[in-house]
Amino acid sequence: MHEVSIMRSTLDVAEDQARRSGATHIHSLRMRIGLLSGVVADALRFAFEALRQNTLAASALLEIEEVRPACWCMDCQAEFEVNDYIYECPRCRRPSADLRRGREIALVSLEIS
Ligand SMILES: [Zn+2]
Repeated sequence: MHEVSIMRSTLDVAEDQARRSGATHIHSLRMRIGLLSGVVADALRFAFEALRQNTLAASALLEIEEVRPACWCMDCQAEFEVNDYIYECPRCRRPSADLRRGREIALVSLEIS
């Protein structure tokens, strides 16, 4: 499963950052997952439960922020949200392939001590 390897590398990065700051506990991890990333948030939570034992994050809370996809419209010089896979600006109806958000898979913050 894709999410298991993503969670494993996220935990590696988190533990590495915690250790470098001299911390011994990770209290929470916050991740940002784009709805077009192909990653399923529930599968990620499940992988976290399975992998967190014996890590600094053994009792940590995992928060997942899901990011709705958005494109950039050249004509309007503005972002618009993509709903139901329609990549068309709601203001001027121009289609856009310039996806600015929605594919991210990122660890955005950690709470450690
Ligand atoms: Zn537009």
